[in-house]
Parts: sequence; structure tokens; C-alpha cells
Amino acid sequence: MEYRKLPHGSEKISVLGLGLGGIGKTPTSEIEAIIRKALDHGINFFDLCTAGATYAPLGRAIAGKREQVYLQMHFGAVYDENGEYGWCRDFDTIQKTFLWELETLGTDYADFGFLHCVDENEDFDKLVEIGVLDYLKELKEQGIVRHLGFSSHTPSVANRILDTGLMDMMMFSINPAYDFEKGDDYGIGSVKERFELFRRCAGEGVGISVMKPFFAGQLLSAEHSPFGQALSHSQCLQYAIDRPGVLTVLPGVQTMEHLDQVLKFLNATDEEKDYSVIGGFTADIISGTCVYCNHCQPCPAGIDIGLVNKYYDLAQAGDDIAANHYTKLSVKANACLQCGHCESRCPFGVKQMERMISIDGYFSAI
Ligand code: SF4
Ligand code: SF4
Repeated sequence: MEYRKLPHGSEKISVLGLGLGGIGKTPTSEIEAIIRKALDHGINFFDLCTAGATYAPLGRAIAGKREQVYLQMHFGAVYDENGEYGWCRDFDTIQKTFLWELETLGTDYADFGFLHCVDENEDFDKLVEIGVLDYLKELKEQGIVRHLGFSSHTPSVANRILDTGLMDMMMFSINPAYDFEKGDDYGIGSVKERFELFRRCAGEGVGISVMKPFFAGQLLSAEHSPFGQALSHSQCLQYAIDRPGVLTVLPGVQTMEHLDQVLKFLNATDEEKDYSVIGGFTADIISGTCVYCNHCQPCPAGIDIGLVNKYYDLAQAGDDIAANHYTKLSVKANACLQCGHCESRCPFGVKQMERMISIDGYFSAI
């Protein structure tokens, strides 16, 4: 398992986490077993926009391990008397739900306190007006919430929330269908807007946790995929993990079989994780744009082509940390032999030989 450090903290978060949204109807003994098995395989990050029934078995599974586990808890997700999820904008209900969640989990803090599912500007205004943002700030000062974050599907609203400068984590829906304008109502924003948002998060040290990596399963089936061709779980997970700013991807699991399927990613080969096939689906939209897939490897000069391109894009967007990471690479763009191998392999039509010259020029000048 790879772990990525939260830029505004010391937490080391597993790139593979779990979303527990659909697990509420699973027998509680199985929920507990799923969490235990996930922990045994190095997963340490769980999203808790879920159902009321999830909390007690999750609490039992993490008992004695609380400090090794990171919980993303949503202020605005509430549960009725049957434990059914509801989206809420009533302060008292939100507060009561959070206190109940802590008690049921057997903990006294949340690692991440989230403004839940904020897709419209008016909704962000409402959360501020009813005092949820102030409540989260108070909880952070008291150490009851360790980091602030939010979930959204809308780049423009996400940018507005990022403008507060208060956020450490953003939960966002990322998959090739949404990113390349072939998704549903949740796939909001152009390719450019979405990629700029991811780069902004990386530049400002706001981690991204990814929801909907499989586009609700549609990408896994040729019949339902908007591309007419199925991708595998591992391809979708690797795609999301490679986006700038992403710390963890949160596939939803409901059964042990689902977890086992997701865990196969940990032993998948590079070929099994290679998602460059999407170059053929998206040629009309992103031809010539490097998506950091590394399908063009091996480079005879030893350049990590995807990483060099990612650092370049981030540095150009103002990310000084990425620029600094570039300077530490043992093989940089100036090693390019102009052999053309990468261009012959790139499914996205990237003119990488020219780009290596530009990248070297850029970094030599700063
Ligand atoms: S140049 Fe093409 S194949 Fe290589 S990392 Fe970029 S998009 Fe992928
Ligand atoms: S053109 Fe440069 S970056 Fe591309 S494979 Fe050859 S040496 Fe590597």
C-alpha cells in the first residue's frame, strides 16, 4: 500500500480508502469483518457518508486502533430512526447527529469534519448562515475535529470554498467519464475547469479524496460505459490516484466480495493498471494533453515521463512544492535523447519531444 501525507498535517493516508455509503444494509457482523480485513490490508481511511447502521460495527472494528485510522465525517449527512441517510441543513440536527456518531463509534474526535455535499453557492451560504462552518471551526480549535474539508461535485463552488483558506481536504467525484465530459449530472465542469481545480488543490496543499471512481459502476461495463468499452477496477483506481492533489480513492463496498475485488488493486501489475486505453475514447477532447499515465514508458534515458509532466503542469499553475520536487528528480527533462519512443507510444497524441525541451527550458529559467 502506498501512503500519501496530508499536506496540512502529518497523517499518512492510504491511497486506497473505502467509501461506506452503500454498506448500511449489510449485516453488521459483515460490516465489522469488512473493516477489519481492510485494516489488515493497510487501508486506513474511511468516508462516513453512510447509514446509521454502519457506526457501531465500524466502532468495534477500530477499537484499540483509533489513532491509526482516519475518519471523514460529514456535517449535513444525517440519519432517521431507521438509520436511513438524509441530506440536512438544520443546525441542531447536524450537531446532534455528530455527537451521536462520536458516541456510537466510541471516539471523541473526527479526523476530518466536512461540509457535506455542497454543490451550489446558495447552499454554501446557507451552511455559513446557520452556523455549521463556525461550529466546525470551533470544533477544530477544541481538537474535536482535526481538519476541515468539504464534499462537492461542482468546480466553481469548490473554488469558492477553497477561497476561505480553511480547508485541508476536498472530496470530489473523479473518473474518466466525469473528467472528459461524458458523465451524468454529477460530472460538472469542463475538462479544463476540473483539471485546474485538481491542480489548485495540489498547489494549496488541499488533499483530494475521490468519490465515484467507477462512475457508479458504469465504467466497469461495456454496455453502460459512455465510452462503450469497459475499464477494470484497477484502471479506474489508478486513473484517480494519478490526478494531481489526490491522496486517497474511496471505492464503495457493500460486501466482502466487493472488498476483495478492490483489494486486487494492491497486487495488480502495471499493465493491469494502465488506463491509457482512454486515449482512444477522449481523442476529440484532450488530444495532445498529457494525463500522466506513463503508457509511453520505458524511456531509454530513464525519465519518469508522467511525473515530469505532472510537476511541470503544477509548477506552471504556481505550485512551488511541485517545482521543488522536480529539482530533486535524479533524471530530468534535459536527459531527453529526442528518440521519439514516447511519442510513438502515447495514445493521447502528446508531442513529448517538444514538451521535454519546453520543460527543461522552464525549469532552467526559474
Ligand atoms: S506522454 Fe502520453 S503516454 Fe506518456 S504519460 Fe503523457 S499521456 Fe501518458
Ligand atoms: S523522446 Fe525523450 S522522453 Fe521520450 S522516450 Fe525518448 S528520451 Fe525519453
